[in-house]
Amino acid sequence: MPDSSTDSSTWLIEGELLESTGSCHSRLRICSDSGTILERGDLDGTPDVVWPEGVIVCPGFIDIHVHCRDDPGGSQRHKEDYRSASEAAIHGGVVLLGDMPNNPDPPIDADSYRRKRQLADEKSLVDVVLYGLLASGGRPYRNDIPWKCYFGPSVGDIDSWGDSAVAEVLSPFSGRVVMFHAEDPAILATNTDRPTHEQRRPPEAEVVAIQTILTICKQLDIHPHIAHLSTADGLSVIEEARRCGQHVTTEVAPHHLCFDIENRHQFECGQWLQMNPPLRSATDRLALMQGLISGAIDCIATDHAPHSIAENDEGISGVPLLDTFGGFLCHLAREGVPWPVLIDRASTTPARLFGAFHDGVLGDLQPGTLASITVIDLREEWLVERNQIRSRAGWSPFEGVRFPGRVAETVIRGKRRDPATSNRIVTAQGTS
Ligand SMILES: [Zn+2]
Repeated sequence: MPDSSTDSSTWLIEGELLESTGSCHSRLRICSDSGTILERGDLDGTPDVVWPEGVIVCPGFIDIHVHCRDDPGGSQRHKEDYRSASEAAIHGGVVLLGDMPNNPDPPIDADSYRRKRQLADEKSLVDVVLYGLLASGGRPYRNDIPWKCYFGPSVGDIDSWGDSAVAEVLSPFSGRVVMFHAEDPAILATNTDRPTHEQRRPPEAEVVAIQTILTICKQLDIHPHIAHLSTADGLSVIEEARRCGQHVTTEVAPHHLCFDIENRHQFECGQWLQMNPPLRSATDRLALMQGLISGAIDCIATDHAPHSIAENDEGISGVPLLDTFGGFLCHLAREGVPWPVLIDRASTTPARLFGAFHDGVLGDLQPGTLASITVIDLREEWLVERNQIRSRAGWSPFEGVRFPGRVAETVIRGKRRDPATSNRIVTAQGTS
């Protein structure tokens, strides 16, 4: 094996490595040309970076549910594009994101997919997996992407299916991974006159939708992934399906773990916390927290939706959360979730879910893995302020919150980035 320490494209990092299996003090040799971790252990050479005690070096975070809303056609340019979304991702320590398809030009066939892929490749500073959208008459036009199905309606001019049409739309997708927006449109339709957003989208809409989705996916041999789970009863339905042998995964968003209809007004931006599915009760929130710890909930995903405050005032649902991904994990650690569990839910398990859709291995810090790494500094608090937010949405639901730590550096395929600016950081050797 050649002596990589003399190769100018390699650099050496030393610090507390923290993975889903535990932590240890060690060194990593990284190649910025191949973008991979070459070696790990008690390695020779002078480190280019030594992270002190109180800083943890983690496998890069993966956010499988993001709305980048890149729209070169124009109507949504003010919201976000792949560049601004990726800058927010770097700020949050996210190295790979899954982009949702509810855009004006959704990826419904090979041509529309190619257009969107080109935009992501041109503009994004982080890796991007694109979801294909399930559309009427749609076919699985690629084997290497996950799919998104809007069982119930949400944001954007897209079709949602309900139980009358979803089986027909899903039937060509046997054997695939399909993420579901799980709210039952018939139940939503019977609640449109109710006074609050939360009442118009009640918990039973999610529970009934999950029951229907799991039944149909079992018949069609589809791997269902339930997006942004928000209710304790929905989680019970998923756990019961698993006990009966069904393979189903799910995720929880930061807003459903932190905010509820009782505590929302204790937060500076509480009035703008509108999303689909909406905030639930404190009981639901605590059940989701327990599900995250136990592993009943597979991963954390933001559902980052870059609407401005003015748009939220007008009633659009969704909140921007990419910038605060890493800071929020620090909050969860303070709330009692062990760090190895957080790394599993934010990196290792999402890496497994996205394994077939992405070039390169992620989720741990072993040789051969992509050198996409998130460094967290736990030595001081981060007071979240509006002027720090990199998303074009320009605000954060966590403004005024003090997270007990912050992202100190995000490494993307062997190249170091400053979270505050997204600029490249040059190592002592000048080649990272
Ligand atoms: Zn979403």
